[in-house]
Amino acid sequence: MNKFTVKDLPVKGKRVFVRVDFNVPMSDTGKITSDNRIKAALPTINYIIEQGGIPILASHFGRPKGLRNPAYTLRPVAEHLSGLLNRPVKFAPDCVGPETEALVKTARFGDIVLLENLRFHPEEEKNDPQFAKSLADLAEFYVNDAFGAAHRAHASTEGMAKYFPKPAAGLLMEKEIVFLSRVTEQPEHPFVAVIGGAKVSDKLAVIRNLLPKVDTMLLGGGVIFNFFKAKGLEIGKSLFEPEMMREATSLLKEPKIRLPSDIVVGSSIDKTARFRNVAADAIPADWLGLDIGSAGASDFADIISRAKTIVWAGPMGLYELDQFAAGTQAVAQAIVEATARGATSVVGGGDTAAALGKFGLKKQVTHVSTGGGASLEFLEGRNLPGIAALKDK
Ligand code: AMP
Repeated sequence: MNKFTVKDLPVKGKRVFVRVDFNVPMSDTGKITSDNRIKAALPTINYIIEQGGIPILASHFGRPKGLRNPAYTLRPVAEHLSGLLNRPVKFAPDCVGPETEALVKTARFGDIVLLENLRFHPEEEKNDPQFAKSLADLAEFYVNDAFGAAHRAHASTEGMAKYFPKPAAGLLMEKEIVFLSRVTEQPEHPFVAVIGGAKVSDKLAVIRNLLPKVDTMLLGGGVIFNFFKAKGLEIGKSLFEPEMMREATSLLKEPKIRLPSDIVVGSSIDKTARFRNVAADAIPADWLGLDIGSAGASDFADIISRAKTIVWAGPMGLYELDQFAAGTQAVAQAIVEATARGATSVVGGGDTAAALGKFGLKKQVTHVSTGGGASLEFLEGRNLPGIAALKDK
């Protein structure tokens, strides 16, 4: 890890601004439907408390578009966090301004403060320097633990970092950087990437960046039909992006790329859809390709079983419907078994994590990234502003 982390900061008796990702799913009645993101920030918060520091937590929540909107208040998160930590959490009425400053400045050891939604101010997303300075003035140290927002150059993720001599990573951010860089920079071979999901356009940059690094790239999901079309095959009513044809045609020449030999086709996209397994060159004109077929899945599983490093982004089919979940499940199972035998496996992209969750396999891979868009951008080889802003060691 080449960045300073919270463990490098003398936080005792100091206020530590921690940018967390508390953008949790919430029902219309204000009930948190999954607290995974809050739990993911607990190691950093607990570490600061154990070291005698005072955490000042800040996050965005939803898209209030720069306006104060009670539908997007973080108050329910403060209450939930208080339950998880088993101690009171002081909720600030805003993230800047005199009332918040007074609350933060009088915070003592033992206090935890959560600021109101950063995105109630348009200056947050505009990365306004004055707003960033006001946030920075709240604390002696700055820690960014919001990997899920690291691909955004906002005031709280990028702008305010420059007001601190040692802007540092939180423990979740550290874990994300360590695992994502390990697989992209020093993978043990054989290195296999499994790329799926709905659209080839969303995954093209990941495919291009990983291709020179991997030994084999397995493609599934809606991504593959552009390739089948490029080969001149009938793809029926499967997902297809005409503007991607040139890219697909040129990638077809890459010997590392492997496509499934068969497909599960469906009569429609709903619970009552009929389905059957057909060869890749026998997709009926009025059906849709909605999963990799059983022979393709066992071929993929076989290649995965020999891998020492695996990166997985994007489900192999429309796994939300049971008829089209088998390919994704077979790949997930193969990755879990390879991991049990010592391979390093990293899963990125929000939907892939959800698929692993559906099969109850989330804990059995090396690392599931908490950042959907951020993990994809990392795998694309891009510099994430929220990471670039942290101090190098
Ligand atoms: P992404 O967010 O791009 O990784 O895409 C995930 C979504 O792709 C999931 O909701 C899947 O249901 C969907 N998906 C995967 N394979 C297919 C397919 N063959 N046709 C349509 N949707 C698919």
